Amino acid sequence: MLKENLKTVEEHVQEACKRAGRSREEVTLIAVSKTKPLEMLHEIYGEGVRDFGENKVQELCDKMEQLPSDIRWHMIGHLQRNKVKYIVGKVALIHSVDTYRLAEEINIQAKKRGIIVPILVEVNIAGEETKFGTTAEDAMLLVEEISKLENVRIKGLMTIAPFVENPEDNRLYFRKIKQLSVDITNKNIDNVSMEILSMGMTGDYEVAIEEGATMVRVGTGIFGARNYKKSNESH
Ligand SMILES: *Cc1c(COP(=O)(O)O)cnc(C)c1O
Repeated sequence: MLKENLKTVEEHVQEACKRAGRSREEVTLIAVSKTKPLEMLHEIYGEGVRDFGENKVQELCDKMEQLPSDIRWHMIGHLQRNKVKYIVGKVALIHSVDTYRLAEEINIQAKKRGIIVPILVEVNIAGEETKFGTTAEDAMLLVEEISKLENVRIKGLMTIAPFVENPEDNRLYFRKIKQLSVDITNKNIDNVSMEILSMGMTGDYEVAIEEGATMVRVGTGIFGARNYKKSNESH
């Protein structure tokens, strides 16, 4: 079943690329495996997927230990500063940097290990109160500040668009963040690249690709609905 889900998502990704006149290679499909058991990740791995997204440090580290080492792990959830040390140097990309203080802690941990850590700046593009992320207005300043940290490299922007019934309703937000990334590129800030635009989830990844996403984060569409209730009760 997962195999069929993945096939369907892959077809939709390809079609969206075609509609947008983009090549399939420009878009990375990240399988968002949070709350899902290892067997499911194994199955998707067996289908050739190498990019997995998790939103909790503990769960990410547990899964990482038990799955093949050629997986690229993406930290996509809100990250607390005291947990940075557990993932720096282990994950391929941290998508969810939304404050200078968090970037500063990543920089400290990166320096300790003598590495440079790629990150994305998370932007709350629709200005929703319930969501993390810097505002579109503050993003430029935050990027400029973080760019001065020696062991952190900004590779682009990430956003979580509103939950909507009709994915077309998010098109303007995807356009807005794409434009923001162009504005930042045009500022030519040292050490900053805008090569990655991480946007689009199960409900809206096709529209996101049409508007320039280079990474889409798909959970439910591949693994099926999540059951949070069950995992909460067991704690
Ligand atoms: C859970 C999650 C996703 C995937 O959501 P689906 O709607 O299940 O595809 C994507 N991005 C982030 C940041 C998430 O937390």
